[in-house]
Amino acid sequence: MPLTSTTRREAPGRAARRHFDTYLFDLDGTIYLGTDLLPGAAELVSTLRAQSARVLFVSNNPTRSPQDYADKLTRLGIPTSHEDVYTSLVATVAWVRAHAPGATVFPISEQPLVDALVAEGCTISDDPEKIDLVVASYDRSFDYRKLQVAFDTLFVHGRARFVATNPDRFCPFPGGRGEPDCASVVAAITAATGVACEAVFGKPDPAFLEIIAAETGLDPATTVMVGDRLSTDVAFARATGMTSALVLTGETDRATALRTPAAQAPTLLLERVDDLLQPAGHLWDV
Ligand code: PLP
Ligand code: CA
Repeated sequence: MPLTSTTRREAPGRAARRHFDTYLFDLDGTIYLGTDLLPGAAELVSTLRAQSARVLFVSNNPTRSPQDYADKLTRLGIPTSHEDVYTSLVATVAWVRAHAPGATVFPISEQPLVDALVAEGCTISDDPEKIDLVVASYDRSFDYRKLQVAFDTLFVHGRARFVATNPDRFCPFPGGRGEPDCASVVAAITAATGVACEAVFGKPDPAFLEIIAAETGLDPATTVMVGDRLSTDVAFARATGMTSALVLTGETDRATALRTPAAQAPTLLLERVDDLLQPAGHLWDV
């Protein structure tokens, strides 16, 4: 069924009510854009919390720890504990804990993932004969030498496993600009070696929700995932039985949202994040 729209509502007032018991919010493009809080985000979170809803933040950005995000949100006027933030870095470390404890790892990543792997008991190495696991990620120092190490590890020695922190092709910036993200690094390694990565963490991997549900007890049937990306946020909800809400303040523009095939479409379409507090009949239902 095509998406239909209604007139935008007024700002949420006392009568605004919540429709779910748990709200998962994507961060960049949903709560803030870069360093700027998006309109209505702080008021929405505070209204939901006042109504005893559980509010969690879920980001595919592998370059920051949950504490970094809690600090950023708190600075922006949304007081947040690190326990309420889940990132692809958290998902990656959880997988290593379960499937490759104590591994010798070659992380192609920024420093926070290296630190988290070391804290988890991993050894960091760039010796292809010793590496058990190559972890591809967003890495602004990715270069030919790192590609060579990955090649020697995966193609020449052919013993190590290969995983990736998140599936994002690029990280969007305001004004239509952006930066290549983890999928670009994965593509380079796969092109050279012919080896596909066996797991990609973060949204939309259903295992990411299992990690969050195990810690919070959330029920997907009464949870909404709110985000700006069809391929990660909406796909995550669709893969796990959550309601999805696509917000138009980030990567996806209205024209793209309106021509999304039904099999990838969100449950709800929001012009801005606090449209979530619309009475259900006034939301844009798919
Ligand atoms: N990866 C990187 C490197 C990023 O900087 C971002 C956005 O900040 C993302 C992924 C996507 O994060 P989110 O899931 O919060 O939109
Ligand atoms: Ca986003």
